[in-house]
Amino acid sequence: MIEGAPEPLTGRIYDRLAALFGYREFRPFQEEVIRATLAGRDSFTLMPTGGGKSLCYQLPASLMPGACVVVSPLISLMKDQVDAARAAGLRAAAYNSAGSASDWQYAVEALRAEQLDLLYLSPERLQVPDFMSWLKQRRLAFFAVDEAHCISEWGHDFRPDYLALAALKEQFPGVPLAAFTATATRRVEADILSRLRLADPLLTRASFNRPNLFYQITPKLDLEAQLLEFLKERQGEAGIIYRTTRKNVEATAAFLQGKGIAARAYHAGLPDAERSAVQDAFRNDECRLIVATVAFGMGIDKSNVRFVVHADLPKNLESYYQETGRAGRDGEPACCALFYGRADIAQLMRFAESQPEAESREIARHQLYRLLDFTQKEGCRRRALLGYFGEEFTLDNCGACDVCAGTVEREEASVAAQKLLSAMARTGGRFGARHVIDIVIGKANKRIRELGHDQLPTFGVGSDRDDGYWRRVMDAILAQGLAALPEGSWPTPAVTERGWEVLRGRRQCFMVTAAEKAAKTSQDATRLAGGLDGPQLELFELLRAERAELARQAQMPPYVVFSDRSLREMAELLPQTPNALLRISGVGQHKRDVYGAPFLAVIEAWLEKHPEMAPARPDPPELAPGSGLAANAPPKAAKASTRGETWRETGRLLDRHMSIGEVAEARGLKTATVLNHMENLAREGKRFPPEAFMDPERLAFLRDLFKTCGSWQLGPVVLLSREDSNPDLPGRGETDFEEARLARILLYGRLPPLNSTLLPATVP
Ligand code: ADP
Ligand code: ZN
Repeated sequence: MIEGAPEPLTGRIYDRLAALFGYREFRPFQEEVIRATLAGRDSFTLMPTGGGKSLCYQLPASLMPGACVVVSPLISLMKDQVDAARAAGLRAAAYNSAGSASDWQYAVEALRAEQLDLLYLSPERLQVPDFMSWLKQRRLAFFAVDEAHCISEWGHDFRPDYLALAALKEQFPGVPLAAFTATATRRVEADILSRLRLADPLLTRASFNRPNLFYQITPKLDLEAQLLEFLKERQGEAGIIYRTTRKNVEATAAFLQGKGIAARAYHAGLPDAERSAVQDAFRNDECRLIVATVAFGMGIDKSNVRFVVHADLPKNLESYYQETGRAGRDGEPACCALFYGRADIAQLMRFAESQPEAESREIARHQLYRLLDFTQKEGCRRRALLGYFGEEFTLDNCGACDVCAGTVEREEASVAAQKLLSAMARTGGRFGARHVIDIVIGKANKRIRELGHDQLPTFGVGSDRDDGYWRRVMDAILAQGLAALPEGSWPTPAVTERGWEVLRGRRQCFMVTAAEKAAKTSQDATRLAGGLDGPQLELFELLRAERAELARQAQMPPYVVFSDRSLREMAELLPQTPNALLRISGVGQHKRDVYGAPFLAVIEAWLEKHPEMAPARPDPPELAPGSGLAANAPPKAAKASTRGETWRETGRLLDRHMSIGEVAEARGLKTATVLNHMENLAREGKRFPPEAFMDPERLAFLRDLFKTCGSWQLGPVVLLSREDSNPDLPGRGETDFEEARLARILLYGRLPPLNSTLLPATVP
């Protein structure tokens, strides 16, 4: 069965990809992983952040009978995950210590009624024996274990709770398990496989390359000025500035605020309430810029972070990869800027040397050198970074790093470095950088004469270059770890083992300098792919504002409504009909139906102001479902203005006291389509007299159901109406989706019926 079957499957999974998620093709490895799950096989998938892991389990969950149980460690993210799945049209619920009793009741009912695609669980729930035995009686499609590295003590996020997952394969023998992680060394990977007891799993390692991230690395000269310059070009974009200490976090945030930039500080020393307020503000696009220690970002799934700045050197390359990985999860261009200075290097060196055990000292040193090499390598940043993770990047020019974009210059400075290192060695590493430079330049000042340093062979060997040049060489020496600044009140660089290699001609020293136009060009490079300007940028902003408003009403983060990328494509392609909207990446049928109309209205209004921008190529003709009128669709000129016409025609007929069924019949539409039109009209502000459409007692009953569920969602209302699940409201009959939807239009009028939204308490 397995061998011959795949053909029809191809169709099904591609249909789902378009209909639910609005994407035209799979990202690398998604399809393989999905197929394995559908075939009942275990899998382990290593994919970088933003690689598209959730789709790997959401899509099969929508196709397979029974629910997919998703185990995920971050309770704070679960609500967003559930919202995002629901926004795509999946039936999802969560069970964790943060949820309310009614959330749980809904999850239980939906699971029992086999009306659930996804159940998000925190790992500690799997330790509750009663729950486990209850779960065993349910129909489960498969388990998805997110952040699977949490099960390994070798990983950096070990969680004892995750050990409970070891029992899953034993307790649910027939249920496949798909494990996912973005961070796993080989050792952690082996650990995950054995602890989860996966049987002949499909093993997938996706590339760690994040092609949409632009990497730039710049020596720290005047950090504050450099930050201002960097931010100037990025107003209104969401970003994070990382600093290593709380004190620096606060100083930088205060500095930016003083310059009128609305930045907020985040670090572990702030009160809990303040921290979660900052996180929420960032998540909801209310505050775009956060200055933080690396504690920030762990619980953030925000996909439209447009830049991550390291204003100090990160701890090591793993951390750098992980932290920069928080940018551009939506696949849109994003910038990762690193500023490093002497003091950072000295601090990391001190950290390495202060390790008590010889072995950990060695590890810390090694990590630091790899990091310094990375900042100093004379090649593509991306190649160096991927190389660190054992991955070969073969393109000559990656097109998205400062080196490949030609914004930094490098020169070989081995001979110059030898001169300074030699002066350092001959004076025993007991003098400051200034003094060493003076020796090389040949400054016969009083102190140098007193110490007899004017008699050294290196005295004056560098008199051909100026002081500024030698200071740059000194920086390069320190940055490459050729000399180290030992702890002490007076920093005196001393030659390291590596430095000796340079002195012996076995290692080269390169000097990296920012090209004149560095900052500017690299920003253009990230921007090029973004590509919007003038009035279209204005439209993009209008669409963003609309999204913010919808998201606010729905109490969920904006990117769950539509990604930045979807909005950018809307501003570029200017869709004018619901069907055309489906061609936008990230817009599936459900999202189009639920959220599409207000965005089309924004585009329509904007096009009225900018008729010259109207696309030359018309949208394909709109097909009214079941109308069979495709052949004589109206000509293009009339198109834009007739978009709302079909709803309005429905509205006119309803105003003439036709029932919904009569309108459907007269217009050759399905009832669902008529309800669609009513919903669109309601969003435009039209009110329908409730008594004309529904018996008042019945409507009151449905209002109670909505209030009890506390949600705009129809699914819970329909479930709750079933007698057995509803001891409070007995004997009043079940409702169905159509009736519930009609009631929602009548009751809540122009409030957008956003799925997954909790009903505000203020609603009557
Ligand atoms: P991960 O969990 O691996 O970090 P996500 O599942 O959050 O990544 O996906 C990152 C982004 O990529 C999301 O905005 C998602 O909608 C998008 N995405 C996933 N699959 C595809 C695809 N096949 N085509 C385009 N975008 C995709
Ligand atoms: Zn490059």
